[in-house]
Amino acid sequence: MSGAAARLKEAAHAAVERRADEIAALSDELMRRPEPGYAEHATAERFATWLAEEGLRPRTGLARTGVRAVLPGGGAGPCVALVGELDALTLPEHPLADPATGAAHACGHHAQIAAVAGAAVGLGEVMAELDGSVVLIATPAEELGGVDGIIDAADTPADDSDRVEFPVGKAELLRLGAFDDVDMALLAHTGRGGGPRFSVGDTLNGSCVVRSRFTGRSAHAGSSPWLGVNALKAATVAAHALDAQRETFPDGDDARLNYHITGDAGALGSVPSSAVLRTMVRARSAEALERAAEAVARAARAGALALGARVETDTLLAYLPLNSAPELDDVVERNAHPLMGAAATARGRHLGACTDMGDLAHVMPVSHPYSGGAEGDHHSTDYRVLDHRAAAVEPALYLAGAVVDLLGDGAGEAHRVLRASPPPLSVPQYLALRRGMNRHETQEEA
Ligand SMILES: [Zn+2]
Ligand SMILES: [Zn+2]
Repeated sequence: MSGAAARLKEAAHAAVERRADEIAALSDELMRRPEPGYAEHATAERFATWLAEEGLRPRTGLARTGVRAVLPGGGAGPCVALVGELDALTLPEHPLADPATGAAHACGHHAQIAAVAGAAVGLGEVMAELDGSVVLIATPAEELGGVDGIIDAADTPADDSDRVEFPVGKAELLRLGAFDDVDMALLAHTGRGGGPRFSVGDTLNGSCVVRSRFTGRSAHAGSSPWLGVNALKAATVAAHALDAQRETFPDGDDARLNYHITGDAGALGSVPSSAVLRTMVRARSAEALERAAEAVARAARAGALALGARVETDTLLAYLPLNSAPELDDVVERNAHPLMGAAATARGRHLGACTDMGDLAHVMPVSHPYSGGAEGDHHSTDYRVLDHRAAAVEPALYLAGAVVDLLGDGAGEAHRVLRASPPPLSVPQYLALRRGMNRHETQEEA
């Protein structure tokens, strides 16, 4: 790092530190106002207001609630996006859940928004001396919400302006062109309690949802059950067939399946005529996902066949697997280490969870570090950020520092990242991959 870059980083850090209490307070404020995906209106408005107060002109309402603003640099060069996620997930039993929606910040996304807001403050001081631009972007719906509406709207024309085609926000923003001018992206996520203070370069699974809707025939369960076709039992047989195949997924696929079965709420004295088996399939590569999803669809056909029911199965891609760019991870890591020490950090684990940063990683180099500050397990009722400095202020510092490294000194480091990790796909190729993984099949009664 040149002397000039060190001076810029110091100036950016000093600006963040002057506002550290406000950044931490923003994280805490947003944590107490959780909103579900594609409906994060208050969170988006708060972020847009912060940016406007920094003298920026945010665009709002992207994919319903997304927000983006540009920090132009003094010279021409690559564009780095700092990304924060707006949404909470539905977990009504969480102590901080919104009683009306059940949404709770059990994944720490509030801290991401505060970190991006904080980094914007730091970078505002130094952009004039950087070669390239920064896009600050808040994305909707990282958590997977209900997917039925998206599956059922598949035949609606894609140009219907209110229609959401994809279940996760970054895919939707890519479709709408909100990342067209972006060359690489950074997002700092809070880690789980008891985990490393900082990690980077972790790979994450991709996933899809397989929804099998079984239709049978109702009948009197006592006097004439032979006239009925029990859809709930068909779904149960399918679930057993699915469980029987778990050991057949190759070790390297890291396949993980979980499911819910819901039956109709008819009288106990009636043979259930409808049931739905919803399976979330996670795996490490797109090919592994397709293998596992086909096994689930086959199990659904088997359940229907055994009972003489009808089954309609839809497979919807949720997230593509995440592989971050090692050279970009290096830049982030060397900015995080001075804050928390190399001993507190980890690198390159494989995590069974998913993120739509995996989607972005198919079209640009990304880095997706995890920070400290939280206790409990992600997506559990005891997950909570207690230390907003570790969860939001420290990421603001290392994100701003990483941008200075990338875009300082003629943006040589950003160009090096782009040469070392060229985007695997163009956006149209990525959209074709996503759409090509969705499936629909029907098997009529035997
Ligand atoms: Zn999550
Ligand atoms: Zn998350």
